Amino acid sequence: MCSPLRTVSSPMGRDHKRPSPDRLPPVLPKTLYTEDEDNMTKNDELFSPTLKFKDDEDTKKECVLKVQDQKEEQPQQQKQQEEEVQHDNEEKEELLDEFNPFFFIKSLPPYKDVINNRVVPILLPKRTRRSHPVTLVLDLDETLVHCSIDPIEDADLQFEVNFGGLMYHVYVRKRPHLQKFLEVVSKQFEVIVFTASQQVYAEKLLNLIDPTRKLIKHRLYRDSCLEVCDNFLKDLNVLGRDLSKTIIVDNSPHAFGYQISNGIPIESWFEDKKDVELLNLLPVLDVLKGKDDVRQFIREYYQLHKLVEGAG
Ligand SMILES: [Mg+2]
Repeated sequence: MCSPLRTVSSPMGRDHKRPSPDRLPPVLPKTLYTEDEDNMTKNDELFSPTLKFKDDEDTKKECVLKVQDQKEEQPQQQKQQEEEVQHDNEEKEELLDEFNPFFFIKSLPPYKDVINNRVVPILLPKRTRRSHPVTLVLDLDETLVHCSIDPIEDADLQFEVNFGGLMYHVYVRKRPHLQKFLEVVSKQFEVIVFTASQQVYAEKLLNLIDPTRKLIKHRLYRDSCLEVCDNFLKDLNVLGRDLSKTIIVDNSPHAFGYQISNGIPIESWFEDKKDVELLNLLPVLDVLKGKDDVRQFIREYYQLHKLVEGAG
């Protein structure tokens, strides 16, 4: 599914790697999707849920409304193919390839309609004088760690969590270079972990990763997400921070669908011990921490808006 890395000339004066559009992370983690349905449901309940979109008729009707006119202009043959794929529940792998986070983002209802004239609650304490000027929001599952309730032989961490009256044993793999990455960025940014996972699980995990709370300043969980079309989005407005000074790194681009110019996509990670994506992020973040408006750089560098415009 992934193509080789593209090496591009970076504004830092040396080459480094960035994701090419066709290398963006598979939004539906295969290890969850291919498990039996019971386990998939349990994982979705406890951990960051997978993107729900095309396989849900009601969700699709609601979310696609906005782009319906555009779709009607598409050739009839293409529309039929999409409908066939959508209803073919037996060929899950084929369906998997049809999930497109950028089409989901394109189909999102306007933000103001979702907020519906409500005042967006600010969920974090204000910045202090000692806070770093730029805020770095990090996703948890498949960005920093991979967790499963199925046994993982080489798990780095294990813990029990009581959720919904049931006790779950959680196995955790830490993404390579996680500790170094957190130590570096915590000295340069106000670091926040924002996860669509349940607090009862994520809090225990973060207590193990950052027991002294020196690396991660704040933590936000599923109940802080904005639920849109049955998906949990991370609305950066709840941080109460200047969005020109806010970056989010997430393996699921749809999570920052309302603020794509703030979002850095990272490849989903499950088990590759040679993975260096966190290290590859450091030079990009080093540039961003000095920018007046991080969104301009992110937009030009990752060009996700073009993927959104071209999706469908
Ligand atoms: Mg994730």
